[in-house]
Amino acid sequence: MTSIDQLPLRPELRGRTPYGAPQLQVAHRLNTNENPHPLPAELLADLGAALGHAALQLNRYPDRDAVALRADLAAYLSRGGERVAPAQVWAANGSNEVLQQLLQAFGGAGRTALGFTPSYSMHPIISAGTGTAWVDGHRREDFTIDAAAAAAQVREVRPDVVFVTSPNNPTGTAVALETIAELYEATDGVVVVDEAYAEFARTGTPSALRLLPGRPRLVVSRTMSKAFGMAGLRLGYLAADPAVVDAVQLVRLPYHLSSLTQAAARAALAHTDALLATVDAVKEQRDRIVAALPALGLTSVPSDANFVLFGRFADAPAAWKALLEHDVLVRDVGIPGWLRVTAGTPAETDAFLTALGEVAADHR
Ligand code: PMP
Repeated sequence: MTSIDQLPLRPELRGRTPYGAPQLQVAHRLNTNENPHPLPAELLADLGAALGHAALQLNRYPDRDAVALRADLAAYLSRGGERVAPAQVWAANGSNEVLQQLLQAFGGAGRTALGFTPSYSMHPIISAGTGTAWVDGHRREDFTIDAAAAAAQVREVRPDVVFVTSPNNPTGTAVALETIAELYEATDGVVVVDEAYAEFARTGTPSALRLLPGRPRLVVSRTMSKAFGMAGLRLGYLAADPAVVDAVQLVRLPYHLSSLTQAAARAALAHTDALLATVDAVKEQRDRIVAALPALGLTSVPSDANFVLFGRFADAPAAWKALLEHDVLVRDVGIPGWLRVTAGTPAETDAFLTALGEVAADHR
């Protein structure tokens, strides 16, 4: 058996582990922040028709620039009150691919990305994959970002790409627009606000879309994997100055977004209201989890997302295993004392809280 170490692998990839949320057959899978609600029946019917129609043209390459889809995405983003034009939008196979294209365009050899950890584990992994050096940005003990300290760190490190995840994964922490604006002023690089969970934010937590006018180096990244409940579709997108869209087109593979993906995404966007109808229900379950923790002797980090970072445990990996033995799969994100649970259906919350009630006392 050949081991990876025997291959002429790029040195910066040596010793690394791939992204690996366990995909286990467990009754309650609450570890990857998916939306468990079934897709609306009307959408499923339209999807069949849309895919059938697109299939007639599968001998041809898809629209390389996904013009119609980008117009639909721009219309969706504009619903929030900030006008976003189709030329400001770019789409790819999941926001992971959007982030990769951004790093290919603005990071790369000899360049540096900085993100405020703990945050989404793929940011450093995609950085490594694109040859971009990575620097951990600092957070406070409570996982919030100290704007002045963060801006000072950015001025010192001078990264080419700054990641701000808001709401942050895995902590659920939203970042104030003033903080993002301050970070933008502190850098000549590109500021990527990863808003994968934006739709779950509590009221009063605005999107960074509002900051786009006059800030050509600011990028807001979104996904249909979470609130839209379409993780299997693989559709992520960004909003930014049209010049940023020109830049990612230099690195994207031709025809990267299949005609089936484009057709399915457009069909889904036509059912935006029905799809997002589950968001409030998920937020209710999130808040239910948060409210139930103190009675179990546990606490949580304030969350604007569809998940909750909860603790503190004496040994989080042991608590993770104990929950798994009760058929509940949560995420050990590697933060000592804490675990992350996805909020989903009321039945999932019931199962989670029941299991937690049985294991909490032994693991606090
Ligand atoms: N950003 C964040 C913060 C995430 O948590 C995730 C999914 N876990 C992604 C981006 C990527 O999502 P996708 O590629 O499915 O759009």
